[in-house]
Amino acid sequence: MLWGLHAGDSLGAPFEFLPPQPAWNTQTEIVGGGQFSWKPGEATDDTDLMLCVLRSLQNFRHISFDILKKEMLAWFASKPPDIGLTTVRGLRNLAAGVPLKECGWVNNNPRGQGNGSLMRVAPLALLDDVAVGTYGTEKIYGLREIITTQAKMTHGHQYCVDCDMVLVPVVKALLNRASKEQAFALALRMAGQESPLIYERLKNLLNLKWEELPTSGFCVDTLCAALWAFIKYDSFENAVTAVINRGDDSDSCGAVAGVLCGAYYGTQAIPVRWLAKLEFRDEIQQQVAAFFGQN
Ligand SMILES: [Mg+2]
Repeated sequence: MLWGLHAGDSLGAPFEFLPPQPAWNTQTEIVGGGQFSWKPGEATDDTDLMLCVLRSLQNFRHISFDILKKEMLAWFASKPPDIGLTTVRGLRNLAAGVPLKECGWVNNNPRGQGNGSLMRVAPLALLDDVAVGTYGTEKIYGLREIITTQAKMTHGHQYCVDCDMVLVPVVKALLNRASKEQAFALALRMAGQESPLIYERLKNLLNLKWEELPTSGFCVDTLCAALWAFIKYDSFENAVTAVINRGDDSDSCGAVAGVLCGAYYGTQAIPVRWLAKLEFRDEIQQQVAAFFGQN
């Protein structure tokens, strides 16, 4: 799941902000480049921030928001070239000591309802539903409240929270060997509970052709693009490749598609030629091994 995120991120990074690739020029390799001159396999903000979330997990039932805050601010201080504007505002508030759920920007423009929390949220799928978050002396009870708090540290709009609230249970189900049909039915059910907008989008999603698929940084577009590719293709490689070749926010859409496909197909399905290039391949493996060692 997390290698899948990194693979989708690094595969898509050179094509961020670009128009869709024509069929004769379909991209299938991790080559680096793009607006930020990425090295092949270099992590962008998606993988970097996912690692912050991963490092904050203490065991199946405990996430430390103190560690998450420290990790996110350390990343912010490293001056990442690709940091999003919504994330900048959220992290400034976080650094200033604003309460976690009040840091994120509530922006009525879809450009401010970005995928910044969706792209990093996957590690929370490793937590139990009754997990507890700690922040100083504060306690945050239950996975739902943990998901909400994590999102609102940078992304305050309800659509951003709703997308995470759909994705995490679906990923959990896939890790527990749900079928694609079960996973999509669960996505619809969660969307029905959380968000009429996402529900309407999901109802029509599988009728879309590749040429019609939005892959923008709007959180709902990113969630839908990832689910679309996961359902439509029958391999990790084909699904993630299809998404990143749509351009626009190709790395984040690729990352979320990589999460779903990784959770479903497993490690062996990720092409070795991609895995070999991933900057944080070993760290992800070590962190996950340490996490399971705690349990
Ligand atoms: Mg990125």
